[in-house]
Amino acid sequence: MKSRRCSAALILAAALAGCAAQVPKLEPGKGPPTELSEQGLWLASRMAEQSTAISGRRIEDPALEDYVARVQCRVSTDYCPQIRVYTMQVPDFNASMAPNGFAQVWTGLLLRVENEAQLATVLAHETAHYIQRHTLEQFKTTRQTAKLLLATQFGLLFGGVGVISAGPVGFSTGAISQLIAMGYLASYSREQEAEADRIGFELMTQAGYAPREAAEIWAHLLEEQRECDLPTPPALFASHPPSAERLQTLRRLAERSGKSGVTGRADFLEATLPHRGKWLRMELAARHICRVRVLLERLIDQGENLGELYYYQGEVYRLRGEQGDLERAIKAYRNALDYPAAPVETQRELGRVLWRAERPVEARRAFLRYLNAAQSADDAAMIEAYLERLP
Ligand SMILES: [Zn+2]
Repeated sequence: MKSRRCSAALILAAALAGCAAQVPKLEPGKGPPTELSEQGLWLASRMAEQSTAISGRRIEDPALEDYVARVQCRVSTDYCPQIRVYTMQVPDFNASMAPNGFAQVWTGLLLRVENEAQLATVLAHETAHYIQRHTLEQFKTTRQTAKLLLATQFGLLFGGVGVISAGPVGFSTGAISQLIAMGYLASYSREQEAEADRIGFELMTQAGYAPREAAEIWAHLLEEQRECDLPTPPALFASHPPSAERLQTLRRLAERSGKSGVTGRADFLEATLPHRGKWLRMELAARHICRVRVLLERLIDQGENLGELYYYQGEVYRLRGEQGDLERAIKAYRNALDYPAAPVETQRELGRVLWRAERPVEARRAFLRYLNAAQSADDAAMIEAYLERLP
């Protein structure tokens, strides 16, 4: 689509006329900006970064955060020194990069990408938005302006946000900062998304990653969306909607590139596997039952840490509670126990579902095995109380 240039003073009129702002791309090493509206965005981004850096949701594993930052650096090359990545424990698929180079990656994303090349695809896509200054561009159009005004006027998000200062174009820097901190600021146009996909693809393939991996992450997200009939799209879906069209475009780009490259799966697993059980637990605590079921089928096919994966599959069925799920849970927990990586609580949960399935003899056996394996567990007294009620 052909765009016309708009001045900041004519935002509303321009928006009404359907005019999209255009800004030149960011040069490496440049900043902070001199233009007023961009200064406001940088200020809001800095505030968001400061609160993120000390947030209780920031992951407590410097090795993992360093790993993600290395992948970020690999795709962003000359821009690497001005980008900072924070890894946040949030059970949703999201990554974002603010105009000042403050980037976030959520654990729900790390759980769903299969290898380093897929992670690099998302990071490169965000880097492309950053380099092309898409946030500023959107900031100067109706949709974004209206959204930000709404957030300001109605304290829309997170129980209201204190107004810290009036931004250069008349809305609260504090409210914008909150949107950035939550990774929600970016709501890009279709054209910007297509540009970020194309530039991101170039960045990840230039960094030596396998081109065919670029489309795969979107295929997985589409599968989750389709299978679970998601009424409200998760965070990144809202700003980067997965679609068959973008999937096909990325697959076409991969076919045409003629390049080969690495997937980086071994390094990715080394960095993420120690955390995977905890991330799955967080997803289930957020009641993403269907999405975790779909995800687990894929992870089980890949075969790493099957004891852990079958345990969480048992948890999915136990929590879902549909007809036949008790038997499915029993089967999954028993599958888990065939592998050394099964969490110690597998026997306990197996005991519980066997009890509910009115199989007391087997339930007793499972509880006794749990107590034997976890002698100092906090819930040992409770399990002993269960045992007294069983034959
Ligand atoms: Zn995007």
